[in-house]
Amino acid sequence: MSARLAVIAIGGNSLIKDRYHQTVRDQYIAAKETCDHVVSLIQDGWDVVIAHGNGPQVGFILRRSELSAGELHQVPVDACVADTQGAIGYALQQNLQNDFQQFGLNKQAVTIVTQVEVDPSDPAFQTPSKPIGSFMEEAKARKHADEDGWNVVEDAGRGWRRVIPSPIPMKILEEQAIRDLLNAGVIVIAVGGGGIPVIRKENGLLKGVAAVIDKDLSAALLASNLGAELFIISTDVDQVALHYGKADEHWIDSMTVTQAEQYLAEGIHFGAGSMAPKIQAAVNFLKSGGQRTIITSPENIERALAGETGTHITNE
Ligand code: ADP
Ligand code: MG
Repeated sequence: MSARLAVIAIGGNSLIKDRYHQTVRDQYIAAKETCDHVVSLIQDGWDVVIAHGNGPQVGFILRRSELSAGELHQVPVDACVADTQGAIGYALQQNLQNDFQQFGLNKQAVTIVTQVEVDPSDPAFQTPSKPIGSFMEEAKARKHADEDGWNVVEDAGRGWRRVIPSPIPMKILEEQAIRDLLNAGVIVIAVGGGGIPVIRKENGLLKGVAAVIDKDLSAALLASNLGAELFIISTDVDQVALHYGKADEHWIDSMTVTQAEQYLAEGIHFGAGSMAPKIQAAVNFLKSGGQRTIITSPENIERALAGETGTHITNE
């Protein structure tokens, strides 16, 4: 492995520009934009591991599953995550390979279907909170609760929705294979969608569970375990703000881990399911050996690395 390893987490939402650009082809084009920036990092001498989100894509699979319910089997959540790792990994892998060819880089890119072990006693399993799939009428929600064991909640007057647990990532099961590939000079795409959530049963065997793991937390765990120097979170904002969306909103260029933890604790700055996990992921990475985290948009990755934009989080 070269001295400089960067792990980059790309948002599932950044593969979908808007509601008019959701097709597989549209996502492929969006993936290309991000890949072009990743390749410029590689040309600058970085080894790169790419992690990606999959929220909207899992939503599409579940919707298909729902529409075909009378005819075809349902797809369990862990298998949905696996499907998106394959499909998004394929789009990233092919775009990277095309770029390598175009720029004459002798590189390979490979996607690893990645399982991430979670703790069955994680409190998230007691209080499932992550909404997933379509909105439903109450009767249908109750039927799923009775027949399929779903946890369902009423979502602020908009209808009923299934909620599933979002446990903390504990262990990346394919981590050694990822390391071996990196050592062989391969660009690796891993922990897609935060990884396929699995638990280890008392008999030692693995089993997929209906849960989703936050992709930023899994990417940070992978980054620190691999000893990465840099963790980039590529999302749809150029920077992180304090008092986001309020009158006194203030965009920040840099903060220390101590400041980041303090802002997190204040509980008013970062969106609960969006920016807060990114800040937590940055803190986790920096506290376990990482040197710097940058949060920015895909088009700004190079400028952010040069210190011209993005929000930079460091140990001091
Ligand atoms: P991703 O798919 O990349 O994980 P998310 O939607 O989960 O994207 O998170 C990015 C979003 O976080 C931004 O689009 C923005 O609306 C939201 N957000 C919440 N709090 C903040 C903040 N303090 N600063 C900047 N963006 C924030
Ligand atoms: Mg997110």
